[in-house]
Amino acid sequence: MGVTRESPITVLGGVGRVKAEHYAKMGIYTLGDLILHYPRAYENRGDIVTLEQARPDGKSALILTVATEARVVRLRSHKSFLKFRAFDDSGSCEIVYFNQDYLKSQFCIGSIYRFFGKVERKGGKYSMSSPVAEPWTPTAELPPLWAVYRMTEGITPKQIAKDVSAALELLAADAADPLPASLLQRRSLCTLSYAERNIHKPSSWEALAAARRRLVYDEFFCFSLGAALTHRKEKTLGAPACQNGDVTPLLRTLPYELTGAQKRAIDSIRADMQKNVPMSRILVGDVGCGKTVCAAAAMLIAVQNGRQAVLMVPTEILARQHYSDLEPIFASMGYSCALLIGATPAAEKRRIKASLASHDPLARLQIVIGTHALLSEGVEFSAPGLIVTDEQHRFGARQRAKLAEKNARAHLLVMSATPIPRSLALVLYGELDISKIDEMPPGRQRVDTFVVDESYRARLNGFIQKQIDGGGQVYVVCPAVEEQEEVAPEEIMLSQIGDGGEMREEKPPLKAAVAYAEELQKSFPHLRVAFLHGKMKSAEKEFVMQNFANGEVQILVSTTVIEVGVNVPNACLMIVENAERFGLSQLHQLRGRVGRGKRKSYCILVMGGDGTSVSQTSKQRLEVMRTTYDGYLIAEQDLAQRGPGDFLAAANDDTVRQSGGLTFRLADAGEDVTLLQEATEDARALLSEDATLADHPRLLEHVQNTFHLENGLIS
Ligand code: ADP
Ligand code: MG
Repeated sequence: MGVTRESPITVLGGVGRVKAEHYAKMGIYTLGDLILHYPRAYENRGDIVTLEQARPDGKSALILTVATEARVVRLRSHKSFLKFRAFDDSGSCEIVYFNQDYLKSQFCIGSIYRFFGKVERKGGKYSMSSPVAEPWTPTAELPPLWAVYRMTEGITPKQIAKDVSAALELLAADAADPLPASLLQRRSLCTLSYAERNIHKPSSWEALAAARRRLVYDEFFCFSLGAALTHRKEKTLGAPACQNGDVTPLLRTLPYELTGAQKRAIDSIRADMQKNVPMSRILVGDVGCGKTVCAAAAMLIAVQNGRQAVLMVPTEILARQHYSDLEPIFASMGYSCALLIGATPAAEKRRIKASLASHDPLARLQIVIGTHALLSEGVEFSAPGLIVTDEQHRFGARQRAKLAEKNARAHLLVMSATPIPRSLALVLYGELDISKIDEMPPGRQRVDTFVVDESYRARLNGFIQKQIDGGGQVYVVCPAVEEQEEVAPEEIMLSQIGDGGEMREEKPPLKAAVAYAEELQKSFPHLRVAFLHGKMKSAEKEFVMQNFANGEVQILVSTTVIEVGVNVPNACLMIVENAERFGLSQLHQLRGRVGRGKRKSYCILVMGGDGTSVSQTSKQRLEVMRTTYDGYLIAEQDLAQRGPGDFLAAANDDTVRQSGGLTFRLADAGEDVTLLQEATEDARALLSEDATLADHPRLLEHVQNTFHLENGLIS
């Protein structure tokens, strides 16, 4: 057996057990994993400057000629350094390397190198300490870009670069492309091996752009194929046909009339559930459009037919909320309903589990609402009929997959409040049937939205005070500092590389969330300010949220973790700091946190600084927020402006449920919509000719590898 992508990385020279353990920390076990560890950025070494032009704030690339013999200076305790001078037309520079005496023979007088590093300038004298040096010749061009990887302790950048090269080399023999040649030609795509080589070691800007394009297409293409194949498999399983569905008893309990859109959604659900094929339906609709009652209708249909219904939500708060809304309704109709969350006492949990698993229809628990506690050991349904997941994109991918897998014969209803543009919905949910609730219940208030800059700070604080004096509560959302990738000024992020290799706009400095919470607490010493961020334990988060929900905390500062989920109708002011940093859809979700009760509500979008550092496009984006309230219109605008990245990230978890475990590694830059559509189209066309990919074994294997599919999921 030769070396394959599945070979452990220890087949590489110099990678032993210890290095392998370090790699494992980054999720890298095999050669294939290593190749998929794409660079996070590139050093721009092709932008040659003179000593005089060297940037003061970062590294520069220079072509210098060695002028003096390299001299080794010995220090005490076995330390030494090597130094020499090198020059270009604008001046001369001292170059120093520490503890690398062996370099001495390399730098002979007159030899020319491309040096890359920081040029220090003291009193008109230049120096560089341990720059990267590559021998330069006038004929052979040096590659302009150098990959920068996400790192972990114990592995140096040099080591990764070397190991990646070795892995590419070893696998080069196995270079047959998994994609049909006709497709590569039609879409002008480079081969996979070219793409993988050039994403890691780009020979030029053009090569990098071509590589990225191929790999993004590949992700989309495999995604479409994988989703379709998995889905087909599910469809072959039988589900309980729920023929006796009558939702009028539910409607009688409601203090309102259903909207037309809600009625249509329930009709589709009922029609699906009558069949013995599992329903796979996604219910999409803006925050507050009334999806819960549609889910309740579906649950009622299941229990009317002697089956059990499950509602799984991402947080305990949300679970409790649904339970307190729905339990009385089901109880009034004579159906049993329980709440199963982490905090449920052990004895109660045992009772619920026993009752769910009971084969006696009279003793059997009919409805359970809960969190991922529903996935814990021993939760078995004796008559599963319907699984509903709410706020789907906040679920851990594995969790939802697990519930669906365990109950593969149940009907499935997924609910999402993330508006997704039509073109993307077709791709992302192509294998699900979509019901869209595009009509709000009557009498909804609009959240007045303002865009301001830092100069409004004092007035803003006054406004906060006024809202709280009136009995309301305030959310403040800041971009998460820790979620930001550190980028050195000379580096170019992978996501900034479009087809033309041009760069995207620079970002203004961020408002650090923690510091800001402290600042606010100082401004409002008599109020309670709490802080919430993504790295907190979920119990801590829930505790803070609970305190906000019950009014003990008046101002909640957070990162975007509050984006989806809880309902605090008393909150009436949403302030978003550095709003220019957020996507439109994200801003829309945030705005949806207020205006949920009777209070007149406001959303204030604060631009960083005095607003001058905010780009024109960002300002236009905020203007869209100020004037538009329709989540779908906003989503279309977002797609047009920022590309599909945010949607893919949000939908990713959902796609994983369908497909086993794909993360989009590259597909997040601006111009990928067309590529996404092309890839989807191509995948459909291919499947219409070869439904199981039986005639494309290599491609099937590629899709399976890309998805890390469990054996047998695709047959
Ligand atoms: P979401 O779609 O965001 O989950 P919910 O189902 O929580 O929305 O509904 C939001 C609020 O609207 C709830 O208080 C619900 O009782 C109410 N509601 C739902 N449908 C209607 C309707 N047709 N008319 C009036 N109020 C409604
Ligand atoms: Mg909801």
